[in-house]
Amino acid sequence: MTAAFLTRFFSPLQMSITLIESTEIGTVGVGEATIPPIRAFNHSLGINEAEFMRATQATFKLGIEFRGWREPGHTYMHPFGYTGAKINGQSFHPFWIRARQMGQGHAFAEYSLNTLAAYAGKFDWPSADPSSPKSTLAYAYHFDAALYAAYMRRLSETRGVQRLEATITHAKRSAEDGGIDTLCLSDGREVAGDFFFDCSGFRALLIGEAMNVPFEDWSNHLPANRAVAIPSGVSQDILPYTQATAQSAGWHWRIPLQHRTGNGYVYASDFISDEAAAASLLQALDAPPMADPRVLKFTTGHRKAFWVKNCLAIGLSGGFLEPLESTSIHLIQNALTRLSSVFPTRRIDGVSARLYNRVMSEEFETIRDFLIFHYHVNGRQGEPMWDYLRHMSIPSSLAEKIDLFCERGLTSFPNQTVFQEENWMSVMLGQGLVPQTFDPLVGAVPDAGMLAALKQIHQTCLQTLSEMPAHTVALKKAQTP
Ligand SMILES: Cc1cc2nc3c(=O)[nH]c(=O)nc-3n(C[C@H](O)[C@H](O)[C@H](O)COP(=O)(O)OP(=O)(O)OC[C@H]3O[C@@H](n4cnc5c(N)ncnc54)[C@H](O)[C@@H]3O)c2cc1C
Repeated sequence: MTAAFLTRFFSPLQMSITLIESTEIGTVGVGEATIPPIRAFNHSLGINEAEFMRATQATFKLGIEFRGWREPGHTYMHPFGYTGAKINGQSFHPFWIRARQMGQGHAFAEYSLNTLAAYAGKFDWPSADPSSPKSTLAYAYHFDAALYAAYMRRLSETRGVQRLEATITHAKRSAEDGGIDTLCLSDGREVAGDFFFDCSGFRALLIGEAMNVPFEDWSNHLPANRAVAIPSGVSQDILPYTQATAQSAGWHWRIPLQHRTGNGYVYASDFISDEAAAASLLQALDAPPMADPRVLKFTTGHRKAFWVKNCLAIGLSGGFLEPLESTSIHLIQNALTRLSSVFPTRRIDGVSARLYNRVMSEEFETIRDFLIFHYHVNGRQGEPMWDYLRHMSIPSSLAEKIDLFCERGLTSFPNQTVFQEENWMSVMLGQGLVPQTFDPLVGAVPDAGMLAALKQIHQTCLQTLSEMPAHTVALKKAQTP
């Protein structure tokens, strides 16, 4: 992604880009669920959707179903897209809260076209016309991350990136300015450069090993530190959404692709052994396994600085937030987009690096809060991990969000980037929070008018849903050149 992005946007600078990859080491090999901004990223690289979907075995994703998170047996959807429609030019959410306090209206999810379509196994593309109900739709993809990486590699190479198949042993730093001068390869070659992107995964070869940037560990709030992954055969229904099912020590993911289903158990090793986690996942598969269980270890958090001197960490080398809301690939793409507005003006550009580091740290923190929220506000009584999570102290930034929602139904928070008010609303309601009041501004609309608007919005959702094609039909259409 980094090489493809650089060559697309910075080729006028006459840069020469070298991509060094080691097949001996390989990629992490998981990462199958994404969020809607990936569409803008792909589009910015000039990627054709049909070609991309064929190349990566992609399916459409309308949201994430959370099973058993509030309590065992309870299920809710965190849909993409906008729930409801504006009333009198104002957000739908406070009107809905007001109607519910009057004992009127349907469940929040009943006004989400994404949720209705997901559960009906349907899909359609969003409309660009803001007056169309389909303009509230939004989608992302499930895909094979290894195939996506290979696709990006091909794209980069055809656009002029030079690729070296080699293993880097270490970096040599300049005695003068502390920046990296060269990368030393295991075959004795050395590669010099002006600026180095560390995309070496969890090993953090440059940002960690060469530049010694410490890691900020968030395990106390997000204790999951392992995952076991097992691909299985394609099941009958290719669902247009991810499933995240709470378990005693974490959660199972289920991600339907065209050629297989991705399954994993993200867990905290303090609460379950690797063997028991793998057994739990194997038991939950709905089709035969296609490979042996593979255990991955990780620590949640990020480097205290992503960019130091002439080295910038992108991807897992910079940090990792567990995959509950499918944000890692997004964070890579987001990092690249942000970099484009502060591209280094010289080999060591401290001013740009400071700005970039601040913005990326905030990005990580807002996602961290969203993830912690899912775990913290749980009603899974009597299970040690969930009891710990419910009682642990939380960052003050998250405590403030919970207060704002509970006391005045607000989900529009400062520094909101990737997860907007509708995302927070779905998850806060889903986890069982109930706002005590609503934005007083919506009180200006008379009750009858408000209830009629809600009814109309609901009927429009159902009517639009009835006209949408099945996910499998849309998948075929999407891949037709
Ligand atoms: C359990 C789990 C589930 C995940 N699920 C999701 C998800 O659903 N959605 C999502 O968005 N993200 C997910 N992710 C994250 C996602 O997998 C990564 O963000 C993505 O794969 C990018 O990883 P990367 O390129 O940073 O690292 P890697 O994939 O590890 O790639 C590192 C690269 O560096 C090269 N390399 C390393 N060392 C050397 C060396 N010494 N010399 C030369 N080359 C070297 C390797 O060959 C490789 O090409 C998940 C991660 C985990 C652990």
